[in-house]
Amino acid sequence: MSHDAYICPECGTTYPLASLAFRCACGGLLDAAPFEVVFPPSGDYAGERSVFRYRQAMPPFAGDNAALDASWRRVTMGEGLTPLLPLDPTDPGVLVKVDYAMPTLSFKDRGAAVLVSAAAAAGARRLVQDSSGNAGASVAAYAARAGMSCDIFVPDSCSPRKVAQIEAYGARAVLVPGSREDTAAAALDAAESGARDGSTFYASHVYNPFFYQGTKTYVYEIFESLGGRLPDTLYIPLGNGTLLLGAYYALKDLRGLGLITAYPRVVAVQAEGCAPVFRAFASGGAAVVPVANSGTEAEGIAIAAPMRGSRVLAAIRELGGEVAIAPESGIDAAKKTVAYRGFYVETTSAATFASFFRRRAAGIDEGLVVLPLCGAGLKSA
Ligand SMILES: *Cc1c(COP(=O)(O)O)cnc(C)c1O
Ligand SMILES: [Zn+2]
Repeated sequence: MSHDAYICPECGTTYPLASLAFRCACGGLLDAAPFEVVFPPSGDYAGERSVFRYRQAMPPFAGDNAALDASWRRVTMGEGLTPLLPLDPTDPGVLVKVDYAMPTLSFKDRGAAVLVSAAAAAGARRLVQDSSGNAGASVAAYAARAGMSCDIFVPDSCSPRKVAQIEAYGARAVLVPGSREDTAAAALDAAESGARDGSTFYASHVYNPFFYQGTKTYVYEIFESLGGRLPDTLYIPLGNGTLLLGAYYALKDLRGLGLITAYPRVVAVQAEGCAPVFRAFASGGAAVVPVANSGTEAEGIAIAAPMRGSRVLAAIRELGGEVAIAPESGIDAAKKTVAYRGFYVETTSAATFASFFRRRAAGIDEGLVVLPLCGAGLKSA
């Protein structure tokens, strides 16, 4: 097997990174081929002030060597290493990770920085992506940084502020009428026809496994911030599961390295109006059955048919975690409560807090809790 590769977990076929493959011929979604994880960072990496502090815990990029490691040095904008602070200074038991303190104001920069660096090393010159907003803005920014052209497909219902942000980076925003799923289908078409020219890379945060190699830094940072331990409970919003799966990989790494002996309680949060993983988890099924989105304020996690749904389900079960619901009626109030503590988040991000506040009010004691502030308030109305 080539050193740098994608592997299909369904059939075992590998693809070199330079092939710009984004899906197996059998239809399976690709993973990164197995690689050695080094953590905590050592040598020069220990002083790096970006997610690439954890470069030794990520797979090689195409043809990786000292010279090509330069791809991320050109691309990084100092994303990551975000503050971990009490939500309320009088209650040290509830911590928030300020993940909107990123170049494009959402945690998606963790994944995009790594994904675009990998794409650059693989020789991509044009990126195609689809998103309900934040991932698109993030990929657009890093594409600009890497000197690539970029087309982002978004639902025509996307917040105008997110569209403006995508276009501000010089990317083309392609507004697709219909559902989030129609947008994904349009991007896939563009990626498939673009792949034939040999330089277009489908920079999807759902398809491309390097995105998860970036989001896993979220948990490494928490471990380091707490002086080499994890909290009792991690709340994680769940749409497609990009932060959830990243957290899963990091937790597996930490346990594999003997740095933790048990997993924290992982509470994945779905919006009441669009909760396919919640339903599948509750019913004990192995597959996520798509639902109709009945409308939710948390548009950023309203994913009716998550592509990696069965993977996400299996990950939550393996961690011994659970799936909770964010009550629609509590989202606005949660947004206010968090803002009154000084943190202005976008509505989607408040959903995680709505779930937490409700469980806490019901008397569930979860020990030391960490919740992410995923996106900045100015991104939504
Ligand atoms: C992307 C995103 C999430 C998490 O969604 P996934 O689809 O599970 O990756 C949560 N909140 C915000 C603000 C986001 O941008
Ligand atoms: Zn396959």
